[in-house]
Amino acid sequence: MNKPVLELAAIEKSYLKGSTNKIEVLKGVNLKLFPGETVALVAPSGAGKSTLLQISGLLDKPLGGKIFINGTEIQNKNDNHLTMIRRREIGFVYQFHHLLPEFSSRENIDLPQLSNGISSKEAQRRSNELLSLVNLADRSNHRPSELSGGEQQRVAICRALANKPRIILADEPTGNLDQKTTLSVFESLVTIVKQTNLSALIATHNLDLASRMDRVVKLIDGKIS
Ligand code: ADP
Repeated sequence: MNKPVLELAAIEKSYLKGSTNKIEVLKGVNLKLFPGETVALVAPSGAGKSTLLQISGLLDKPLGGKIFINGTEIQNKNDNHLTMIRRREIGFVYQFHHLLPEFSSRENIDLPQLSNGISSKEAQRRSNELLSLVNLADRSNHRPSELSGGEQQRVAICRALANKPRIILADEPTGNLDQKTTLSVFESLVTIVKQTNLSALIATHNLDLASRMDRVVKLIDGKIS
């Protein structure tokens, strides 16, 4: 079998509530994400999905356990190195689009590429290609306020893919949309993930969407079942 693009081994995380009350959120999470697969992360609210995605995306550090990205353990890397790995390998999609209001759809997708040293011409080419993949080629000059909720979220998906990451981490990416839009945005996400042979870990409450992914994992009592 292929090597996992992301592996979590015995990940632990707890938070202090007040000065003494410790909440153990992750109690030894083991999870492998393989190339090309879409995995649904299902759990009730408050179970630790966001915590797990933040740790997987190297935005937060676990208190115990190991994280491997493309087979490399990232434990002892410094913050600059982690930022570099995150920029190159990982794309995030959140429940709210977080697009910059003063920029067009295309410019919102150009920006992460420009910060990664890509030329403006090449960034624009890639942004337009991504917008075509989610059927928004004719909205490239629109600002976020001129787009529907579903369109905004599809632009956010393109932005997450801008730097050709290998891993997409999505936290309730359709949680803010109505039922019909949910399905079309979800289909855009899965289609683009499959077409570009990415791997995606997608937290969702929506069991219908979860059942459309390659695999469903449940986070129960701090562990993956
Ligand atoms: P989910 O995404 O499944 O709703 P979260 O990962 O956001 O769950 O939160 C898991 C638990 O950890 C919740 O009880 C939440 O209140 C707590 N929590 C999350 N972040 C923090 C934090 N920074 N400080 C203290 N407690 C936190």
